[in-house]
Amino acid sequence: PAARVRGMGTSIFTEMTELARTTGAINLGQGVPELPSPPALLRDVADAVLAGHNQYPPAVGFPALREAVAAHQLRRYGVAYDPVGEVLVTTGATEALAAAVLAFCDPGDEVVAFDPCYDAYAADARLAGATLVPVPLALDGDHFALDADALRAALSPRTRVLILNTPHNPTGKVFTPAELAEVADVCRTYDLTVITDEVYEHLVYEDGVRHLAVAALPGMRERTVVVSSAGKTFNTTGWKIGWVCGPAPLVAAVGAAKQFLTYASGTPYQVALARALGSVEEWAAGLRGTLRAHRDLLGTGLAAAGLRPFRADAGYFVQADVRPAGYGNGVDFCRELPGRVGVVAIPTSAFYVGSDAPTWLVRFSFCKEASVLEEAVRRLAALA
Ligand code: PMP
Ligand code: GLN
Repeated sequence: PAARVRGMGTSIFTEMTELARTTGAINLGQGVPELPSPPALLRDVADAVLAGHNQYPPAVGFPALREAVAAHQLRRYGVAYDPVGEVLVTTGATEALAAAVLAFCDPGDEVVAFDPCYDAYAADARLAGATLVPVPLALDGDHFALDADALRAALSPRTRVLILNTPHNPTGKVFTPAELAEVADVCRTYDLTVITDEVYEHLVYEDGVRHLAVAALPGMRERTVVVSSAGKTFNTTGWKIGWVCGPAPLVAAVGAAKQFLTYASGTPYQVALARALGSVEEWAAGLRGTLRAHRDLLGTGLAAAGLRPFRADAGYFVQADVRPAGYGNGVDFCRELPGRVGVVAIPTSAFYVGSDAPTWLVRFSFCKEASVLEEAVRRLAALA
């Protein structure tokens, strides 16, 4: 195989889901939602299929979905995008991220991202012949914080792109207004292109915490490509419908790569999502209520099992310190967990590109039915 894929192996998610399958354990590893989708959305997909929306959509996406995405960005973040030229529909956020990194990085370039990070970022950099330079988030008690000095120290003349994931996987962190202002300042000063991964934008659980779009900050719209996706918002991760918003020249560059990765996909889903996105707030409020309760259920269970759960303001995951339960590190803990109590989790160290991983942290997902989490919590209690 070519150097760009040599040693890439299989993703941690595939590995852990396979482990859950072979051991029969409850899978709190991969963040796959096992929660319902809006019934009207499902009916609309069926109707779209039966109405004959089964051929290639335009490569840039079904027009009504591009209009719905633009309206969503304006309504929620006050940032205007032209649905013609400034919005591009992709095969999930995954393709959007890959196409964006391919579009902006030449071989030898550097991409900075906050560590820990979603596993695709380093892989995308590598596919482009670039390198991901990790900037460790600082551990601050039971949560993570921006270390602006570490960010500045990570920059070099080869730095082209900063990937910002907020709300953040795996930590559940939502970058604060002050942190975003710092990040934006660095990006303007060093003339970086920003790729924001906002797939958890609707899944923020704390009343005092809000997801803010970095593209809305002064001088940022023109250098930012916003990536999001329908997967987490509507519990439709298998549909792989995502999108990109940004200024026309940047979106054109992403589209140039995207057209030769998949050209286009998911016509009936695009048709149906155009409508669902128009009233997403109502749906998301209910989903947030469910996920907030599930986060609390899991967090309480982890504490009762003798672990120390971290704060998770958003997203699908709670991290826990496994040392209070007598484990030296998360890898050993996760290796033994299926056999010992019948649960699969992922060591947070698997999300680190750099060497600063807190080896004692483990990620558990709570995007499951309450009955599944209740059973997982019952099983985990055997650890105490
Ligand atoms: N970014 C982050 C941070 C994620 O957690 C995920 C979900 N797996 C993705 C991107 C990929 O999104 P999609 O399923 O839309 O490709
Ligand atoms: N986003 C999910 C996670 O972090 C799963 C992504 C995937 O399976 N590729 O677990």
